[in-house]
This record gives sequence, structure tokens and C-alpha cells, in this order.
Amino acid sequence: MQNTPKKAVVPCPICSHKFIPEAFHIERIIMDIREDGHGTYVVEDRNVMNKIAIRPSNHIRKVWITNCPQCNYVLRFTAEVAKKELNELEGRKISSFNEFGTSYFYNLYSYPKPYMDYTDYYNEAITNIKSEIEKSLEALNINEWGLLCRGFLSAKNIDPFKFLIRFYANLENYCNSSLDNSKEKDMHQKIKESGFPQQLEDNLEDIRKLRNKVVHESYDLNHGDAEVIKNAFLAYLSYLISSELAKLNLISQVENLEYKFINKKSLLWEIRRFLQVDLGEILKFQGYEHNFLKPILDDLGIPN
Ligand SMILES: [Zn+2]
Repeated sequence: MQNTPKKAVVPCPICSHKFIPEAFHIERIIMDIREDGHGTYVVEDRNVMNKIAIRPSNHIRKVWITNCPQCNYVLRFTAEVAKKELNELEGRKISSFNEFGTSYFYNLYSYPKPYMDYTDYYNEAITNIKSEIEKSLEALNINEWGLLCRGFLSAKNIDPFKFLIRFYANLENYCNSSLDNSKEKDMHQKIKESGFPQQLEDNLEDIRKLRNKVVHESYDLNHGDAEVIKNAFLAYLSYLISSELAKLNLISQVENLEYKFINKKSLLWEIRRFLQVDLGEILKFQGYEHNFLKPILDDLGIPN
């Protein structure tokens, strides 16, 4: 028995048209009550079964239904079968009852949607994109950045000196990993050759000088320095996230999806929301959404 919906087109048994179902719906349970001769009884709530005095015979069925978009034939697939079985069997009980001295209950067998429908294809697309984004943020060690952000940008009375040292160490690691022969270069060269945009390069150069003053000249950081560190840090972090996400080509991924029925606008909206909420939860500093994330999204071409 399959456990997940099949990723395949459905062939219509009447007109042979092959299609991806727009949606599957569950049809209400239909019980045939043979004993009283009244025929079909529609049950909307499973609990109702317990209240019906006359037991249905052997099966209670629920079905998945969808229609062929070409000829509108309604296709049915089993969703759930409750079979009347002897009470000694293992299984969930709907009700236990006695018939001619033998105890029975209805054992439930459930079946997933037989084929993926529009919603499943959409969910698959957004799940794949989100997991790519997660992976690329993980590659950046985003959780460590989050710790730094939450410590320095949110908490009060945090030591800017400690922050500067950690920031500098991280920056040096980044430069080392992106440059050849980094051992032969000093930090000034490393920053210069790492390919940062000019403005950011200038900011990082300020950080380098500030760090040297603190380490070699026992300079005490003042409030203005703390602002310089903070701004350089945010510009650097924004650059890292932006360039990492740019590698994913999110816009062209969405534009070139295999299935045309997937709503692109909605996908882009979800990507945006994901970065607002999930990345926001990790970095968590004031002004994150408007001052930090919005310019990144604009760069990536992800609309408001
Ligand atoms: Zn058809």
C-alpha cells in the first residue's frame, strides 16, 4: 500500500485525458443500511455511527473524489474503509457490538490521497525553496550570527570590546576562506582582496584600525565607536546574507517552475514571509525587517 500521494498524472478512464487534479475532496461516509430497506444513509460524523441502532453490514467507506477537467467525470479513490472484524483483532475501535453471540468492531483502514494535487505541488515547491534557503543560511553559520546580534544589538550594557574582537575574528575567518595564500597577507590586504563592495570595504577597514588601536594601544572604545562597530557589522552581515541568497537565484527558480499552475506571486510572498519570520527570529534586533531585510529583498528582486 502506498503511503504518500503519487507524483504522476491521472488518466481519465472515460476520455483518457491525462491531468494533474486541481484538488481532492473527501466525500461523506455513505452507509448502506440493508436491514430496514431504507437504502443509503449519509453519515457526516463518525460518532453518529455509534448512535445508529441498526449496524451497517460489512464496510463503511469514505472516498477521495476529483473530476476530470476535460469531461468532468468524477473519479473516486478509497480514503478510508471501516471493516467489520472479529473483536479479537488488534486495531482502533469505532464501536464494539454483539451479533448473534459474536463480538465485532469496525477496524479503520486509511489511505492517503492517491495522487498529488495542486496544493501538494505548491507545497513541494515552497518546501524545496525554504530548505535551500535554510541550507545556505546554515552554511553562513547563521545561528552564531544570531547569538552575536542578540547579544550586541538587543541587550543593554554589552561590552563593545568583546563584540569587536569576535566580529574581527569572524571577518578574518571569512577572508581566509575566500582567499588563496591568506597566510602571506596582512589583514589590510585580506579585506582589500576579498571582493567587498567599496562602502563595506571602507567600513571594515575602520573596524580593522579600531581593533588595532584597542589591542595595541589600550584604547578605550567610546559610544561613537560602538555605533561604528554596529553599523559595520550590520553592513557586513547584510552583504553575507545577500550574496549567499543571490546564489540561489530565487526569482528565476520561481519563474521557471515546471508546473505552470503553481501560483508564483504566492510563492514569492511565502519566501518573503519566511525570511521575515524565521530569519527574523534568529537575528532578532530592532529595525530588522525594515532597515535590514527590506534592502536585501529588494536586491534579490523579491517584491513587497
Ligand atoms: Zn475525462
